[in-house]
Amino acid sequence: MNGRLLGKEGREFAHKALELMDQFDVAPTPENYAVWICFASDTNPELCETLRTHIEAGEAFSETVNAELFEQYFQWKAIQDAILESGNLMSRELGAVKQSLEAAERDTVAYGKALEGATHELVASPDAAGMKRLVESLVSATARMQRRSQALEDKLQATSNEVTKLKTHLERVREEAMTDALTGIANRKRFDEALRRARRAAESDGTPMSLILCDIDFFKRFNDTWGHQTGDQIIRFVAGCLTRHSLEHHVVARYGGEEFGIVMPNTDTATATEIAEKIRKTVESKKLLRKSTNEDLGNITVSLGIAGYRDGESIEELIERSDANLYKSKTEGRNRSTSDASTASRSAAA
Ligand code: GH3
Ligand code: MG
Ligand code: MG
Repeated sequence: MNGRLLGKEGREFAHKALELMDQFDVAPTPENYAVWICFASDTNPELCETLRTHIEAGEAFSETVNAELFEQYFQWKAIQDAILESGNLMSRELGAVKQSLEAAERDTVAYGKALEGATHELVASPDAAGMKRLVESLVSATARMQRRSQALEDKLQATSNEVTKLKTHLERVREEAMTDALTGIANRKRFDEALRRARRAAESDGTPMSLILCDIDFFKRFNDTWGHQTGDQIIRFVAGCLTRHSLEHHVVARYGGEEFGIVMPNTDTATATEIAEKIRKTVESKKLLRKSTNEDLGNITVSLGIAGYRDGESIEELIERSDANLYKSKTEGRNRSTSDASTASRSAAA
């Protein structure tokens, strides 16, 4: 815990954080409190800047915005802590192995000396009693060496098991941090990462790349009519449709409340548009039933925006163009997909 957050100064920050949360209508949950105490105490410049921009833009701190803020600045810390902890464990483990190796080295030197001494003794006093002493001392030196090397082997085996366990643990933590808990598809973090990777690939080997953004139509109204939980059921359903129609190397992500994205490396705009249309039709045609009561929920629709990557543009520009197309789908009546017609589409590599 930051030292400044303890004592009288800390109480003032806490007070200020609660006041601000009240002012901006932020629910007093521990996650939100963590975000706002950081802001009040000015302890994370990046987070402060994000909040300030949001406040200046006069945007509301919706549940989704709050969850994203927490996820962006705090959940990631859990991974860093896990990595740090693993690093510490590893260095302790390796320290123990090093000690065992040093001890084994000392024994090897002693063993070598014992053998050398034995050779001298053999030459100097080759009588029966001398031979017996010699053999006994060699037997005990050899036994010690064997014990030591067995202990070393056990230690190395234990360390190797520990390393495997840590690796698995880290992979799981990383996987969880990249996955959206509601739908099981990629979250915003993986979406951003996939976009960066896809852009690098498109830049380096000249293959086409596309991005689809997808937003559920009139979802607020759906939530208001059927409740948040049934709304969640719909979000899961849409995520499933996106996954079903996208290709294996595409990354399907939920990057906001009821907003999805598909990062499509090595895919031209025409193919992306076909996929978008398949998704749209599948969603539209599904008769939805409320899981808990089997009530008829009617149909829902989605709007989509597609853009193909243009050489040299930034990820932000690509997102902006997809988003503009999505907006066009919305304003032109929803339940449609709009692609970036002006994009000179490059054909997909074989
Ligand atoms: P439009 O057709 O213009 O997209 O209208 P809309 O009502 O879908 O758009 P808007 O962005 O105004 O509303 C999005 C709504 O999505 C607001 C909120 O009720 C709902 N929502 C956001 N995240 C979740 C979630 O995790 N679960 C549920 N059930 N609803 C969510
Ligand atoms: Mg929306
Ligand atoms: Mg919507």
